[in-house]
Amino acid sequence: MHPLSRRELLAVVGAAALPVPAARAQLPASVYDEAYAILYDATRCIGCRACARRCRRVKATLPDVGEIDGIRFDQPRDLSHRNLTVIQLCDGGPAPPPSAPGARRWSFLKRNCMHCNAPACVSACPVAALRKTDRGPVVYYEERCIGCRYCMLACPYNVPRYEWLDRAPRVRKCDLNGGCVQACPVGALVDGTRKGLIAEAHRRIEREPRRYLDHVYGEFEGGGTSYLILSAIPLERFGLPRLPPTAPGSYAEPILGAVPGWVAGLALFLGALHRLQKRPSGVEGAVREGEP
Ligand code: SF4
Ligand code: SF4
Ligand code: SF4
Repeated sequence: MHPLSRRELLAVVGAAALPVPAARAQLPASVYDEAYAILYDATRCIGCRACARRCRRVKATLPDVGEIDGIRFDQPRDLSHRNLTVIQLCDGGPAPPPSAPGARRWSFLKRNCMHCNAPACVSACPVAALRKTDRGPVVYYEERCIGCRYCMLACPYNVPRYEWLDRAPRVRKCDLNGGCVQACPVGALVDGTRKGLIAEAHRRIEREPRRYLDHVYGEFEGGGTSYLILSAIPLERFGLPRLPPTAPGSYAEPILGAVPGWVAGLALFLGALHRLQKRPSGVEGAVREGEP
């Protein structure tokens, strides 16, 4: 890093002293009734990953290339700094009658940030680099981020990922831009107001009770979310947590309580220094032809 000029040093100190808006982590779910949300119906999903490819295109992330027996593929297994949404496949146990004996139920699950109504990541962030907006999404402001990664510890869904190998690393996660909804060829993803989608989810359960669990995941979990899931298989089988319908601010409190004040101050200063580094251009951003 080059030596700091006086002007840059003032900018550093000023950045470290940025006012931190009060975290809006305890709002009741009803506040977000009219906010933007997405409903994912796992029983309609065909696992085509058009949504994930669109996400890669919109967010300009590079493919996560793997290789088996010399064959290269882009089939990520989990969220990462490059895969902000991922399609996973789960064995749901023996299929119910009238399926053939020994048949099993399988289901896809599209995982990404849940856009919690009371986000633990927002509560944990000491510099308000993550915020829940009135419109629904939980958004990330990289210019504020000091790289402390408390958000990663706090998130009950293990969502935020970090650019560990980047010279100017960021936290990465879905920003609920809706590109995936437009890309889905079978209507497994729909968007609208949170209230409208919850009503639609319950209509589907009522119409086809044998197709769905009587549970809209995200309606109440952890105070509710803006990403809602309908499924035939209990989502705990995919590793999604059973959360009480109360806001999980408690996830963040032990983390923040364990941090001495001087450490937080030093982190703010070093983080502001870190922001002076310019991100290298063109690292991520390949947009490939022929993708949906
Ligand atoms: S899922 Fe995790 S990262 Fe996303 S809003 Fe909730 S707490 Fe934050
Ligand atoms: S890494 Fe730290 S500063 Fe950055 S968003 Fe997460 S909690 Fe906030
Ligand atoms: S585009 Fe739709 S059907 Fe294809 S994997 Fe994504 S959610 Fe499932």
